[in-house]
Amino acid sequence: MSFKVYFLTLGCKVNSYETAAIGKLLAEEGFEETEDPSSCDVYIVNTCAVTGEADRKSRQMVRKARRVAPNAIVVAMGCHTQMCMEETDADIVVGTDDRPALIPILLEKLNIRKSDNPSDDLDAGTRFFEYGSVPYQENTRAIVKIEDGCNNFCTYCIIPYSRGRVRSRSREAILSEISDMAQKGYREFVITGIHLCSFEKELGRDSMALGELLEEVSKIKGVERIRLGSLEPSCMTPELIAKLKEIPAICPHFHLSLQSGSDTVLKRMNRKYDTDLFRRVVKDLKSAFPNASFTTDMICGFPGETEKEHKESCAFAEEIGFTHIHVFPFSPREGTKAWNMDDQVDGSVKSRRTAELRSISDKMEKERAKSFVGKAVEVLVEQAPGDGTYEGYSKEYVRVIASSEEKFVPGDIILGTVNEFRDFEIIGRDFTEKS
Ligand code: SF4
Repeated sequence: MSFKVYFLTLGCKVNSYETAAIGKLLAEEGFEETEDPSSCDVYIVNTCAVTGEADRKSRQMVRKARRVAPNAIVVAMGCHTQMCMEETDADIVVGTDDRPALIPILLEKLNIRKSDNPSDDLDAGTRFFEYGSVPYQENTRAIVKIEDGCNNFCTYCIIPYSRGRVRSRSREAILSEISDMAQKGYREFVITGIHLCSFEKELGRDSMALGELLEEVSKIKGVERIRLGSLEPSCMTPELIAKLKEIPAICPHFHLSLQSGSDTVLKRMNRKYDTDLFRRVVKDLKSAFPNASFTTDMICGFPGETEKEHKESCAFAEEIGFTHIHVFPFSPREGTKAWNMDDQVDGSVKSRRTAELRSISDKMEKERAKSFVGKAVEVLVEQAPGDGTYEGYSKEYVRVIASSEEKFVPGDIILGTVNEFRDFEIIGRDFTEKS
């Protein structure tokens, strides 16, 4: 008999990767993934704890799982459960260190086989857990996790407590996963980690270790694009940027985590850079990749944030010209330094500042889409609905609707010129296959 499993994933790309990884381990045990939560035997919520709001949502999703699938075994795993094991009413609760232990626990609960002591092989939070090659839902773009944990202790963030310190995946395993996925037809690889630039930091390496790894990845047959996950500005040294420039597969799209455009707020956040350093990094990246897109995350209403600091933050965001900003109202996370900080900002002020920054982001995103009109773009086809149009992303991570008399399939890389833009998308005709 095969059991059906449904996944609900909150949070970041690392969580998406880990959901896919657990899905793979369960598939090896004969489980079948379903998109219908009401018919599943196992409902897995992969939780997030990056903010107090993420904690609240994680608890809410576990309760929802109970309602939607009353007969299923409800599993809560991930960052939120790592911090608050006792707070969830799931049937099985696993944190970030012991996710793979879920499989034997689940099998035992379903009476499939007796558990071997599930935590025997675990080395709580001190080594990278190797899932092997992980399939990803999309068949053109794969997420590859290369590192876990963080040593930075930003004052608002729970991650160093929930995931532990930096540990890197072995190069051999990373390259082998990417080779395997490239052979299966994946063309774009999103390299991700909790603190990407800390790859091999525990081995005493600096951020050039990441550059060297990416160079090795680019040599794998079938790898057409390498997209980088969230990057810390302080790790983007001129040497690393020069190395990235030498790798043609690197997508000119950089997600540089800003959090605030006010130096005094950055200090209170214990971020390891200021706006001058951020500016230098963007300038160096623009000179290495003239058409680069920049996206970021920003928090509004961090404790003590004054109107002046908020305005500085907005002005800096406009100066950089981000393509998109993920804006979050600050939500205090118990266990972090910011939880106890004085001068918590009133909720209505946070909402207003968040709306202001989002509207700046929308305006810049539209301007960016408009700037593509008349330019050539390269698109990795993700969807081919059969009506002569093709959808996908450019290397700069702008969504493109392309049309052509030629026939393409997902995974093809096509070239054409942009004729118009619609909100955040760009549109072009007469695309042809890249030779
Ligand atoms: S760098 Fe800061 S925000 Fe990012 S994971 Fe580490 S502690 Fe959290």
